[in-house]
Amino acid sequence: MQRIVHINAAETLGEIPIPVHVTAEDEHFAVLAVVVHAAEEWPAGPVCRNERVPHPCRLHRWGREVLRRRGLSDARVEELAARTRADLSRRGARR
Ligand SMILES: [Zn+2]
Repeated sequence: MQRIVHINAAETLGEIPIPVHVTAEDEHFAVLAVVVHAAEEWPAGPVCRNERVPHPCRLHRWGREVLRRRGLSDARVEELAARTRADLSRRGARR
């Protein structure tokens, strides 16, 4: 959350557009983006575990911003993220 506040206008030019009206479907994809593009700790600093770019990557920032605009608290986002992580690992286990 804090990090989004630090993004200035110039950096925002490279951002993924945020939907004007954030729907339940947007919320679903945003949670998925936050989970799949989570931070992985490395000696040089956190990186996106999906893309290996400095964390938070564009998709992670997009997901956080969509969820913020949807009015979800950090606690609620964490709850949804935990559920999504569990779903993903269950699906992974079935393959
Ligand atoms: Zn990423």
